Amino acid sequence: MSRPDPILEELGLLPVWVRRAADTANVAGPVAVDSSPITSIEAQTKELEATPGSFPVSSETPINLLDWDTLKARVANCTRCRLCEKRTQTVFGTGDEKASWMLVGEAPGANEDRLGEPFVGQAGKLLDNMLRAVGRTRNNGVYIANVIKCRPPGNRDPQFDEVAQCEPYLKRQLAIIRPQLIIALGRFAAQSLLKTDASISSLRTRVHQYEGVPVIVTYHPAYLLRNLPDKAKAWADLCRAQEIYQEISR
Ligand code: SF4
Repeated sequence: MSRPDPILEELGLLPVWVRRAADTANVAGPVAVDSSPITSIEAQTKELEATPGSFPVSSETPINLLDWDTLKARVANCTRCRLCEKRTQTVFGTGDEKASWMLVGEAPGANEDRLGEPFVGQAGKLLDNMLRAVGRTRNNGVYIANVIKCRPPGNRDPQFDEVAQCEPYLKRQLAIIRPQLIIALGRFAAQSLLKTDASISSLRTRVHQYEGVPVIVTYHPAYLLRNLPDKAKAWADLCRAQEIYQEISR
């Protein structure tokens, strides 16, 4: 894959950012399981298709039946968990709503809470540059969302009950967008999506499945800013994602 030098320079990967054969040889078959009782993406999509625009939506309508706009409004006004108390605003997601790739992160940080958009600041800039290196942008072929839509105070880890309350929103986003590939950014997103407590280092070298959609796990851009040598691994993960996507979209 051609990689524009300015981008590699931005990522601090020149001159040695060379993909190794081992990075592709290590792709294993589907392993992940989502044991959640929430309806599958395919089933939810059928429900959506079977429910025209005139479907009467109310505050009682289950999340897995909401269309995009009502889902967005539901999130904006959500009080399902304690994180609503200290947020500035919810962070629903951003990007191409017909994206073939969906990137999933953990939760908003301080900048995201202030601006209402995921992955802003230096981590966002790095993510944008990584996407550009594979010919994508957050508005072209990519949608970005977090598992958690409100900032945990002090950037603490989201708690189990907060994940349980918020995850249906992400599931519905996935069901509506119907990405062909999911990239989990960081340990928390990967463990939440794949329902596992495995380490990110063990997860990132395999291809997983979420509701029949391939999932690639890679490092969170904020982590990469603190751990520069692992940028090379993140590039290998993106290359793996690109290969899988090309295979499934043939
Ligand atoms: S974190 Fe999610 S479930 Fe909790 S209040 Fe925010 S939108 Fe609602």
